[in-house]
Amino acid sequence: MEKGFRLPNGTRIRLVEGDITRIPADAIANAANAALAGGAGVDGAIHRAGGPDILRELDEIRPRVGRLPAGQAVATGAGRLPARFVFHAVGPVYRDGRHGEAEALASCYRVCLEMAEERGCRSISFPAISTGVYGYPAEEAAPIATAEVRLFLESRAGSLREVIFVQFGEAAYRLYERLLGESGLQEAQD
Ligand code: ADP
Repeated sequence: MEKGFRLPNGTRIRLVEGDITRIPADAIANAANAALAGGAGVDGAIHRAGGPDILRELDEIRPRVGRLPAGQAVATGAGRLPARFVFHAVGPVYRDGRHGEAEALASCYRVCLEMAEERGCRSISFPAISTGVYGYPAEEAAPIATAEVRLFLESRAGSLREVIFVQFGEAAYRLYERLLGESGLQEAQD
């Protein structure tokens, strides 16, 4: 399943259901953890598919940054993934929504978009950060992700032409399809 949306300035938001490690993009955002040590879920899938080079790079970064706070990200190469970079973003662990979760989640998307611009990327893909093990309700996380991406594409896109939301499973895909469909964006036919 897949759908595209076009913004007035010609940039695009693509929505894809599937495995983020199989979708080519200049940069792939990862839902990492504070220890930058690899883990379960999408993090595990990225390390498995990308190979050991990614973790080796993280081994060098870790002593410099310590435990990464929620809302921050670090960049590595992408190993065997169909990408140039992986941005390892640490999403917030959801408690009750009153502990800065929304701002930290928005920051994950913003920081990764900025890192993509700094590296001249044309495209970046995102999983639904924090909505797995970290417990962020998908319906609350999705509007934060789409709003942040849209704001960035509308106001700050330089090299960046396309942002890809990769949703795992049909329910997550339908949620984004509804949100983006109702946002007034034009659906792209090609
Ligand atoms: P977090 O710890 O930030 O919650 P998870 O990896 O547990 O991260 O989950 C984040 C989201 O990534 C979940 O919605 C999960 O369904 C999704 N996910 C898991 N594996 C993949 C994958 N291979 N590609 C895309 N999304 C994935």
